[in-house]
Amino acid sequence: MEIRLENLTKVFTTKRKGQVSNVVAVNNMNIEIPSGTLVGLLGPSGCGKSTTLYMLSGLQKPTEGKIFFGEEDVTSVAPEKRGIGLVFQNYALYPHMTVLQNILFPLQNMKVEKEEALARAKEAARLVQIDELLDRKPSELSGGQQQRVAIARAIANKPKILIADEPTGNLDSKTELEVMSLLKRCVKDFNQTLVMITHNEDIAKMADRVVVMKDGNLK
Ligand code: ADP
Ligand code: MG
Repeated sequence: MEIRLENLTKVFTTKRKGQVSNVVAVNNMNIEIPSGTLVGLLGPSGCGKSTTLYMLSGLQKPTEGKIFFGEEDVTSVAPEKRGIGLVFQNYALYPHMTVLQNILFPLQNMKVEKEEALARAKEAARLVQIDELLDRKPSELSGGQQQRVAIARAIANKPKILIADEPTGNLDSKTELEVMSLLKRCVKDFNQTLVMITHNEDIAKMADRVVVMKDGNLK
């Protein structure tokens, strides 16, 4: 699905000892990302990358501006209603659940019917090649395997938009490229739009488009 940001702005206001200060984390950002595009978001620490992703996912509310998914204005839509998949650097798996339970969890939250949920979870697991590991706990997996589980969990419901904050940041360079190829295949197979933060230039080379930020602005 196409993503469009219109004048997207986030200002954090902090008060310390009676002193009010404003930080412009994202400054009037305008961008259009077509469906089926893998976008790499680059830039130095503190330039507003995470804040941009938080606003896309609905975890933070913009101070100004609008976010469109396709024709729909989702600026005020709750995170769980945006139909997005999220992948984090630290995997964020539930340690007490098996791989299968982890993948099923969001589907159950969305009240997908039991057999259908199981079918989608297994299909996602097959796609990221972890179908042999469904009964294991996250602690019994390598970093690369854990990130595959997190990706399976994010794609099981076939979201049109995937958002990832340094999804390969904790992996060794070989695994990193494998996980990236996998993400890229998901994007192409399902015509998803993936916006991901990365620090790694080799990873950025695999993106269809690189967006560089500096001090809250597009560079
Ligand atoms: P990046 O992910 O590119 O490192 P962030 O989006 O996390 O950058 O942060 C952008 C700017 O906004 C930084 O100056 C940061 O200190 C500030 N910032 C981020 N979150 C908050 C917050 N919750 N309160 C105040 N300032 C914040
Ligand atoms: Mg960040």
